[in-house]
Amino acid sequence: MNSVQKSISLEMVDLGRQYQRLKNEIDQAVHAVMEQTAYINGPEVNLFASELAHYLNVPHVIPCANGTDALQLALMALELEPGDEVITTSFSFVASAEVIALLGLRPVFADVNPDTYNICPQHVEKLITGRTRVILPVHLFGQAANMDALMEIANHHGLYIVEDVAQSLGANYLYNDKEQKLGTIGHIGCTSFFPSKNLGCFGDGGACFTSDAALAERIRIIASHGSSKRYFHDYIGINSRLDTLQAAILRVKLPFLDEFIHTRNIIAGIYNQLLANTSGLRLPGLQPGASHTFNQYTIRVMNERRNELMGHLERAGIPSRVYYPKPLHLQKAFAKYNNGDTNCPTAEMLCHEVLSIPMHSEMTEQEAIYVAETLNRVFK
Ligand SMILES: *Cc1c(COP(=O)(O)O)cnc(C)c1O
Repeated sequence: MNSVQKSISLEMVDLGRQYQRLKNEIDQAVHAVMEQTAYINGPEVNLFASELAHYLNVPHVIPCANGTDALQLALMALELEPGDEVITTSFSFVASAEVIALLGLRPVFADVNPDTYNICPQHVEKLITGRTRVILPVHLFGQAANMDALMEIANHHGLYIVEDVAQSLGANYLYNDKEQKLGTIGHIGCTSFFPSKNLGCFGDGGACFTSDAALAERIRIIASHGSSKRYFHDYIGINSRLDTLQAAILRVKLPFLDEFIHTRNIIAGIYNQLLANTSGLRLPGLQPGASHTFNQYTIRVMNERRNELMGHLERAGIPSRVYYPKPLHLQKAFAKYNNGDTNCPTAEMLCHEVLSIPMHSEMTEQEAIYVAETLNRVFK
């Protein structure tokens, strides 16, 4: 091991380093909740909701138990009919498609853009039928889907947009000549506070946000057993709450979110620069008008060399992951929604080529340089 390598301990996400940095404040916040004993719906939950609302510049934030629940609550609040269709991306984490199917709705899979990896608006438009009610874009890896095009399609066809912002909380998007937070452009935004997200808690957590007061009220009621008055139930709801302890931790971390994103962008800048001329790699493309939060830095490895590269990286102490190895339209769980006419060739190609390399808010420039130089040695 040379001296650079010795000082480097690379992880995909380094939660320990972030905790050490904020340890005093987090420990204090957690102890205060333990002393107060309001473990469920304690004051920290509403305080966090209003602080996040302020950060996002959105009137209503409804915290819930996790990001998957946030998506489910959003779709439940739209009062759709069984068999209604929701168009979503085939290249993503399973949560969006899963909740669509769980609610008796039909997931319809759209292909993605090969550079931004996000849902392709042209394909979305082709998939619209008389049963389509919702478009559910996932802003993947930290970057916005093309919201201008999606909003235009949604407005034209009278559809809802539910944005999955779990990987891109804090990103900005220039919409209608106004800088807006991603997740506040469509009808409902949904996020996750899973530990590895841009804003992570120490367990599970999530939230919905919206500008629509009626939708906000319905989400709030559905998340609380369909009840606005205890033991009186207007809807069939679920039980989905953010723990007071998690809210207290999130209140400590929220003021650092922009700084976390800034560091991620510095690391991405080093990767962009040092890997720009590496043949056999494609770097992530940028969506015009949008900032990137680089929840992941995901490259494409051409010429079937991904496994070989992963092996080289592993031997150099560098972890890497394939997000995601199989598109949703080809997953066994969704076979019944695929009549053989689902056509997402770009999603299939990406599943063969993508590789996410270390990226987190505590990474050092030296570590990023080490990763990039190791990659370049493989491809020289
Ligand atoms: C993490 C994630 C979710 C789900 O969040 P959980 O809090 O784990 O339920 C949903 N969608 C995307 C794109 C995610 O990355």
